[in-house]
Amino acid sequence: MSSYIDNKELLKKNDPELYNLIKLEEKREFEGMELIASENYVSPSVFACNGSILTNKYAEGYPGKRYYGGCEHVDKVEQLAIDRLLKLFPGATHANVQPHSGCPANDITYAAILNPGDCVLGMDLGHGGHLSHGHPVTKIAQTYRFVRYKMKNIDTGEIDYEALRETALKEKPKLILAGFSAYSRDLDYAKFKAIADEVGAITMMDIAHIAGLIAGKELKNPFDYGFDIVTSTTHKTLRGPRGGIIMTSNAELAKKIDKMTFPGMQGGPHMHTIAAKAAAFAEAATPEFQEYAAQIRKNAKAMEVVFKKRGVRMIAGGTDNHLFLIDTMTSFDTTGGEAESALDAIHITLNKNAIPYDLRGPFDPSGIRLGTPAMTTRGFKEAEFTRTAEIICDAIEAKNDTAILKELAAEVKAMCIAFPVPGV
Ligand SMILES: *Cc1c(COP(=O)(O)O)cnc(C)c1O
Repeated sequence: MSSYIDNKELLKKNDPELYNLIKLEEKREFEGMELIASENYVSPSVFACNGSILTNKYAEGYPGKRYYGGCEHVDKVEQLAIDRLLKLFPGATHANVQPHSGCPANDITYAAILNPGDCVLGMDLGHGGHLSHGHPVTKIAQTYRFVRYKMKNIDTGEIDYEALRETALKEKPKLILAGFSAYSRDLDYAKFKAIADEVGAITMMDIAHIAGLIAGKELKNPFDYGFDIVTSTTHKTLRGPRGGIIMTSNAELAKKIDKMTFPGMQGGPHMHTIAAKAAAFAEAATPEFQEYAAQIRKNAKAMEVVFKKRGVRMIAGGTDNHLFLIDTMTSFDTTGGEAESALDAIHITLNKNAIPYDLRGPFDPSGIRLGTPAMTTRGFKEAEFTRTAEIICDAIEAKNDTAILKELAAEVKAMCIAFPVPGV
């Protein structure tokens, strides 16, 4: 049987142009420091499934109820993914593992439970919410009426639950949506649920960023607080292939979600990706993964200590999860774009990011976002992350000093190549 590695050798022979580009990316990922909060490195098992022969198979439908023949093996693969996922998130009674990614998982869920014009209460994008939670540039924003809640205090990260309740009482949302991609504290799910119950709304949490931390028992599980629906990506802290999932604790909603996934909004499921999801879910259930999840947070705390010492302004005052949103304008008199460029020059990859009440535009906002999941996978511990935080501050402060940046670049490369990329 051919493996991922063998196939790469064939690619080298048959399509050197493409092969070389992949090799260059391999080198970039190996020599550089990946601090993009939403990225990670998958395991050899996930690679093997994702690059497997299952990509050839059409399997419209669900296990045991397909519209194509020859599904006896992929049926078992998909059922394995479902069963493993349900074990990982106690309280979920039904899972759909077919959504192609995080945005489709959310769009499918909205379509399954809402009618056009229905109101959804979601986290403000500038306060950490995600594009797929109804940003005006998205298609869903033309279909449903999204209303916002925010943080009460951006220096502690506390959500304004009183305002959330008042808005809910006034707007009567059909769905109350929790979840974020640039927020560094945990949520008070019980408060969300109580407000939703008061106005008869469905509760949904998008755990895309923190799925691995919940599976690793480092953060709270929304199902423990009675949430109806949880959506996620599988490729961030959960460390699986690029993909999406929808889980629910409600049998009625489960039927609607399955129907809207297929045939409502997708065709054939990507069986190779579903196999890779199953592999990742099994890995996430191990004690090693729990240690990994704990280390992600310990590493973030190590960075937090340095940032505090250096007087860096962290939105929400610090972090309880894997990520930081840093106000570079206040901290360094440097835009997010300038900070991103200075760090790019020393092979540290992260992204510029708007901060709450940002007055600058999205192409050069006032901050940066970074996170610890990827480098924790490579084996970085507190010592490496302490040094990394110092390097970040030094590099932004020396953004116009090529000599210092050159020195820092050499140090970053030396740190990174000591920690191999899994599967490479
Ligand atoms: C990343 C993310 C998504 C989107 O995932 P894609 O796979 O990029 O479509 C959705 N919701 C949240 C909260 C995210 O962080």
